[in-house]
Amino acid sequence: STNLARRVNEMKPSASIAAKKKVTELQAAGHQIIDFTVGEPDLDTPGHVIDAAVQAMRNGETHYTATPGTPALRAAIVSKFLRENNIRYGVDNIVVGSGAKQIILSAFEATLDEGDEVIIPAPFWVSYPDMVKLYGGRPVIVTCGQADGFKLTPEALDAAITAKSRWLVLNSPNNPTGAVYTESELKGLADVLIQHPQLLVLTDDIYEHILFNDLKFTNIVQADPKLIDRTLVVNGMSKAYAMTGWRVGYGAGPVDLINAIVKLLGQSTTCASSISQAAAVAALDGKQTFVTSARAEYLRRRNRMFELLSAIPGFTVTPPDGAFYLYPCVEELIDLRTPQGQVLATDLDVSLYLLEEAKVAVLDGTAYGLSPYLRLSFATSQSAIEAGCEKIAAAVAKLR
Ligand code: PLP
Repeated sequence: STNLARRVNEMKPSASIAAKKKVTELQAAGHQIIDFTVGEPDLDTPGHVIDAAVQAMRNGETHYTATPGTPALRAAIVSKFLRENNIRYGVDNIVVGSGAKQIILSAFEATLDEGDEVIIPAPFWVSYPDMVKLYGGRPVIVTCGQADGFKLTPEALDAAITAKSRWLVLNSPNNPTGAVYTESELKGLADVLIQHPQLLVLTDDIYEHILFNDLKFTNIVQADPKLIDRTLVVNGMSKAYAMTGWRVGYGAGPVDLINAIVKLLGQSTTCASSISQAAAVAALDGKQTFVTSARAEYLRRRNRMFELLSAIPGFTVTPPDGAFYLYPCVEELIDLRTPQGQVLATDLDVSLYLLEEAKVAVLDGTAYGLSPYLRLSFATSQSAIEAGCEKIAAAVAKLR
């Protein structure tokens, strides 16, 4: 067998990718599985974006591009920040990658030395801690409970900061809870950050446009422009434009950090796909009707799934303000017994029971750093939401 590197052996595989594999295997074996694990829009990429990609291929835009991104895409990103976030960046502040994921990974790679600490509020997107560990960093997990709306408070942030703190990671709207920080909450965090000039901030804004209740999106740079010189704003095409497979994400931040990321990309992927970059220009510069109609569709689904899940005994659900997940607490199901006599000891047990008994796939909260919870995605059809919740309710009714 191959001798693998310690850092790879210690890394957990991505929980959502592992779930997708398992669901695909079960479906291939002939099982009808309702899949609530999906972390991507089920909607199609808008037609004008696809047209732009075809046009780019016909125009011969099929070669390597500049490593930080094509001039056209970096300019479109500069315009996006000005138009949507009122943040003024130069082209040199922008780097394009193969997904937001690559930008986040490269930012840690560029900045972390052995033992450096990264403050990650939990529940968190599964990848952050493992990315940090890959580069010798230490994830410092700060639990943000349901009572705090799953959000980091200034007090909890202050208590987590040490001389070794390098980054604070913020993600709003949040995967998996859908929590959205208000401007005043971000200002409260910024007041703490201002006291600690060594700390960088990574704000993962990938769900910016999937926002409910007429909330207005704000990130920490908008809330306190003084932080612009030490914040990396990460965003991408995946969620807002249903472009997960195109693999385009971007970062905006101080030039020295951006240049370091560019240096790393230059020795790895060289550049994001030239065709996908052309498509991303069309998405950012073109009409935004898709974004608005997708948001309305997600809202309908969220309301339906919230209504159905809330009615299931043992599920305590907070309605999410953004993203496309519900994160119910299943504490009341822990220690109950299945019809087969098995005791449900953890949220992982609950998720496996639902897969077995209801043929509904969900993710366990353990992977997201707060238990006992489940993550259910509503980036799926209304009919799947209705059928899946009905099956979950029937399976839960059998517990004693
Ligand atoms: N950040 C968060 C919070 C996510 O949920 C995801 C995807 O699931 C990503 C980043 C990665 O996005 P991309 O497809 O741009 O790599």
